[in-house]
Amino acid sequence: MKPAAFEYRRVTTVAEAVKLLRETPDAKIIAGGQSLVPLMNFRLTRPSLLVDVNGVKALQHVGWDGAYLRIGSLVRHQQIADHAEIQKHFPVLTVAAKHIGHWAIRNRGTIGGSLAHADPASEWSAATVTLQAEIDVEGPQGIHMVPASEFFLGYYSTVVQPDELIVAVRIPYPKFRIGFAEMARRRGDFALAGAYVEDAGNGEGFVTWFGVADKPVRVPTLLPDNMETRREAWQQALETLAIADDSKPRLHLAVQMAERAWQHSRFDGARYLSEEAGGNQPL
Ligand SMILES: Cc1cc2nc3c(=O)[nH]c(=O)nc-3n(C[C@H](O)[C@H](O)[C@H](O)COP(=O)(O)OP(=O)(O)OC[C@H]3O[C@@H](n4cnc5c(N)ncnc54)[C@H](O)[C@@H]3O)c2cc1C
Repeated sequence: MKPAAFEYRRVTTVAEAVKLLRETPDAKIIAGGQSLVPLMNFRLTRPSLLVDVNGVKALQHVGWDGAYLRIGSLVRHQQIADHAEIQKHFPVLTVAAKHIGHWAIRNRGTIGGSLAHADPASEWSAATVTLQAEIDVEGPQGIHMVPASEFFLGYYSTVVQPDELIVAVRIPYPKFRIGFAEMARRRGDFALAGAYVEDAGNGEGFVTWFGVADKPVRVPTLLPDNMETRREAWQQALETLAIADDSKPRLHLAVQMAERAWQHSRFDGARYLSEEAGGNQPL
């Protein structure tokens, strides 16, 4: 299939992008195009105007903003995977990045596009909820910050308005050690189920599941030493969530991924990166 006809404008500033979005209500931002273009080719979406933000330098940086790591919305998945500062301070993001699609997709796809697309199985959506990140959104009224916990509304739906765009993600230094695990049918596919586990070191923590509900869900959890008790705690937590697919295999996978993520949270950064270097591991 080919997309329906559309106009195309390439901008160099956020202000230009906002102006065009405001003037054309069904316009869409194009960043990496890795989700939008397939949707357009299948004519599941037919924007009359594409606003290409790939020339906006202000959206392309990774750096510290006080106590926050600030990642511009146009930063590619692969840039995050390769970034030395991220490997050092947020190894869980390095590991998660390697699970996104294939190299060609990681090389074009952006963190802002991924968050805006809001696939419930997206690694970045769940990472921002886990890390209690803040998402900066700019529109005609200026920039406003949205906590990741309030950003996702459901399947492919966020609080971003048609005349707004995501400009950056700001991530506070993690309070706890965090592990990540996911299972996909094939390497490069979206996860069937995945989890990030934060271990506070006192037998408690949080688990964020993705791929099991209409958006990522972060819940407090007990992390006892006994594996059976841990699994029971996760089973119970999953049963209280309004998850989309509560079939036994999906729940089983979600528990397995929480267990694996918890194990990973106990590795130090270097071991974590080397253990996970191979991407998806067999169950
Ligand atoms: C085969 C395949 C496998 C994939 N596997 C995975 C996977 O395992 N995990 C995963 O998370 N993703 C996966 N993806 C999706 C990929 O990560 C995309 O890169 C991502 O979802 C969208 O990012 P993008 O920059 O390509 O956005 P685009 O495709 O350019 O845009 C996507 C949507 O976001 C909007 N948008 C883009 N940027 C902004 C912005 N700054 N502000 C507001 N709105 C914006 C667009 O208007 C559009 O609606 C896969 C894609 C493919 C084709």
